[in-house]
Amino acid sequence: AMEKIRAAGLLRTRGLIGGKWVDAYDGKTLEVQNPATGEILANVACMGNKETSDAIASAHTTFYSWSKLTASERSKTLRKWHDLLIAHKEELALLMTLEQGKPMKEALGEVNYGASFIEYFAEEAKRVYGDIIPPTLADRRLLVLKQPIGVVGAITPWNFPLAMITRKVGPALASGCTVVVKPSEFTPLTALAAADLALQAGIPAGALNVVMGNAPEIGDALMQSTQVRKITFTGSTAVGKKLMAGSANTVKKVSLELGGNAPCIVFDDADIEVAVKGSLAAKFRNSGQTCVCANRILVQEGIYEKFASAFVKAVQSLEVGNGLEESTSQGPLINEAAVQKVEKFVDDATSKGANVILGGKRHSLGMTFYEPTVVGNVSKDMLLFREEVFGPVAPLIPFKTEEEAIHLANDTNAGLAAYMFTTSIPRSWRVSEALEYGLVGVNEGLISTEVAPFGGVKQSGLGREGSKYGMDDFLEIKYVCMGNL
Ligand code: ADP
Repeated sequence: AMEKIRAAGLLRTRGLIGGKWVDAYDGKTLEVQNPATGEILANVACMGNKETSDAIASAHTTFYSWSKLTASERSKTLRKWHDLLIAHKEELALLMTLEQGKPMKEALGEVNYGASFIEYFAEEAKRVYGDIIPPTLADRRLLVLKQPIGVVGAITPWNFPLAMITRKVGPALASGCTVVVKPSEFTPLTALAAADLALQAGIPAGALNVVMGNAPEIGDALMQSTQVRKITFTGSTAVGKKLMAGSANTVKKVSLELGGNAPCIVFDDADIEVAVKGSLAAKFRNSGQTCVCANRILVQEGIYEKFASAFVKAVQSLEVGNGLEESTSQGPLINEAAVQKVEKFVDDATSKGANVILGGKRHSLGMTFYEPTVVGNVSKDMLLFREEVFGPVAPLIPFKTEEEAIHLANDTNAGLAAYMFTTSIPRSWRVSEALEYGLVGVNEGLISTEVAPFGGVKQSGLGREGSKYGMDDFLEIKYVCMGNL
């Protein structure tokens, strides 16, 4: 399979700095592993402080030319990048399945989703409007200009190796910013292939740089630089807090997409088929490894038994296997630590009185495969309720009333995605408004799209990505007062 990537010219293993593919200064490399097989796919440059400083310097120089282009010129280049991503859909999806493990079908879906951000922001580039404000003195005119922030540091996770990059880089480049991207060490190959296509599309040398390796060192270099004006991050809440604190010294803007603890509320009046299909999709996509995955399935008493048995049946139909196989709907978890976390959460629940209805152990395929699992009678004191499991475990939590469901749903420091299933229109309004979350899916388990704002409240983050709002995070507002006219 790697031969296919190589033949397409998309196997890149060095960092991208100032338009050149470069090794680490000390020649160090790190291994990229296929989580389904343990096979070493490639050795990529393992970079740190020095390489990051070079990338920042290059992005800083390029900012002055890239931001001076017309929006239409930037838009055309981004559009070409989008077209190249789509033209190489198969190879990119293959690479993603190899280094991340997700089934090919989901990987192909991610290429479309990832590319859609580049297309969308190529269009939005032309719609960055300022304002003219009626003056308070007759001889003045008051203008508002919107200008790109400057050099952006983008740090991304492994669960969406392409889309988490394009969702940041798309609006950054569209607005005139330049970027230093640090992809996850687990999935750098997709990032590098996408960057190669950006160069081919004509994104100028230095506008998009990619470094990877020693995450804390790269993070610190980005944080300490006065030239980096913004950090945009998707990943764990713990690292997000570090980056926010680290940005204080140079007063950088920060956008954070952090962990969730998504409730998925199934009311007595739900259409059971819609509820099962929606919660299955919301829970088991990417083997449960997304920050918007349903983490707690709250089920009203009157429908609990019926829902539980239909849901378990649906979960039994999931096929665990190598993502390269056509029939697979559940790939491996990203690494051993991820499996150990899942095991710890399930043990904690059963020791406190929950019952495993299905699965509950490692899969016979070995490696980091884990059985799709349903745990019943989960309650508030369990880790499965309190924290994000980030794996294929669906906890069922019974509740009695709508107020109780809202209270349980909001009883967390996270606030990214929430889902509900109900056929009542008044209830869907009431509950949507009461949920302390940034995204709400009503009778739908997959709601992300490039045209709608994605982001969390509380400790799930700051800022919004995608949509017209996603552009604002990369723009500064400048007030110009023209006097004595
Ligand atoms: P996840 O649990 O999704 O892997 P992490 O927050 O650990 O979440 O990782 C998300 C991204 O943050 C990755 O690119 C990772 O390398 C990076 N990262 C981890 N620690 C740091 C750090 N101290 N500074 C900067 N980036 C970091």
